[in-house]
Amino acid sequence: MITSKNPYTGEVIEEFKEYTKEEINNAIKKADDRYKTWRKVSFSEKSKLLKNAAKELRDNKQSYAEDITQEMGKPITQALAEIEKCAWVCEYYAENAENHLAREIIETDAQKSYVSYEPIGIVLAIMPWNYPFWQVFRFAAPALMAGNIGLLKHASNVMRSANNIQKVFERAGFPDGCFQNLVISSSKIEDILKDKRVKAVTLTGSKPAGSAVAATAGSEIKKSVLELGGSNALVVFKDANIAEAVKTCVQARFQNTGQSCIAGKRLLLHERIAEEFMEEFVKQVKELKSGDTMDEDTFIGTLAREDLAEDLEKQIQDSVKQGAKIVLGGKRDKAYFEPTIITNVKKGMPVFDQETFGPAMAVTTFKEDQEAIDLVNYSDFGLGVSIFTEDFTFAEKIVPAFEDGAVFVNELVKSDPRLPFGGTKISGYGRELSSHGIQEFINRKTVYFN
Ligand code: NDP
Repeated sequence: MITSKNPYTGEVIEEFKEYTKEEINNAIKKADDRYKTWRKVSFSEKSKLLKNAAKELRDNKQSYAEDITQEMGKPITQALAEIEKCAWVCEYYAENAENHLAREIIETDAQKSYVSYEPIGIVLAIMPWNYPFWQVFRFAAPALMAGNIGLLKHASNVMRSANNIQKVFERAGFPDGCFQNLVISSSKIEDILKDKRVKAVTLTGSKPAGSAVAATAGSEIKKSVLELGGSNALVVFKDANIAEAVKTCVQARFQNTGQSCIAGKRLLLHERIAEEFMEEFVKQVKELKSGDTMDEDTFIGTLAREDLAEDLEKQIQDSVKQGAKIVLGGKRDKAYFEPTIITNVKKGMPVFDQETFGPAMAVTTFKEDQEAIDLVNYSDFGLGVSIFTEDFTFAEKIVPAFEDGAVFVNELVKSDPRLPFGGTKISGYGRELSSHGIQEFINRKTVYFN
């Protein structure tokens, strides 16, 4: 049985019977049969269906959002915003996919030569619980527009949301088998990925999950895209607009109760502005309202599972043993974790070296600009970095020094359907969203007429 449990109330919401071997095989067969016709469907027809999906999301936003909140503890307003963003990505690809995949004519010795962007078949998507809808839609919208088929293996704690997503596509009118949720635990993944009919895999989640899946994909010579963790830095230089930077850094760390791969987890402050910044930062974090996840004015919910809160507690306590200081919060009650600020943080401490997946900010000061760049790049992760400065010439100059997949100036790192999204180092490889995302699971077919 796979169980969904409300981390705020502790109640079991629903239990799901895992698919048998036969049911898994039937689902793959249905997907494979569907691919034979789906790959030939016109962009205009696919676009119409994806716009229907956007409408279905908006029409039933409240009910989908409530299930998200109850399954993983995100405050309801943030779950509603997540559904809106999913509608946006559907509309974005409904309007742009044809352009992204247009034939590319290349002048050669041939009478005619070009690259044709064609689908590859079934793509398995292994997805996490932190944005139960968004993580899936940002894969599914481009995959379906490209003519591929989606098979979902969602995180075990959000199976109702996973079923809801399949429902969205069914209600939008997508032919049976275009998108299916598999009710399975992760032990079934290896066999599915080894199945000849499954052509590629995308995974968003932790490094252990990513490396296990990529190893299987590699052994089968199948394409993989990995979007793993991050430990993004927020670097506040001495000329930054402090009032604006504080507001942005609070959002960057504490939205989604800190459970985001692109959250700003390490706050690097120039020593000259550190005191002024911290005074306002602590004040604003204190004001963040914790409480009932179904209340509209709650900003901090619970973590998705109690073990995740325990992991965070251990990272903080071990850092304190090494000299870090808790200046706010630090306590846990089951799956709830207080908004926390930790100062005196140095390299080598868990809250600096590891990903912290919860509402805890690790604060470090620096003297020289180069020191800040080195601290950013010291991380094994490489998803993104935010820098705060009023000097755009300086910002342009240092952008190439960062090893990350994204640099945002005076803004938190965020995903946008129009921009590529993905990391370097142990944050993974490949890109999602924009034209780059839709071209990941594609056969770039070279065509030559002599
Ligand atoms: P996991 O990486 O374990 O889960 C993500 C997905 O991968 C789930 O669908 C999970 O299924 C599946 N999975 C887990 N292990 C394997 C495996 N060996 N082979 C194939 N699939 C697997 O995340 P956790 O829930 O354990 O969270 C742990 C940490 O991961 C977090 O604290 C955070 O650091 C990071 N994380 C990063 C996310 C991101 O957005 N990049 C999102 C979520 C977590 P199942 O649930 O059935 O185990």
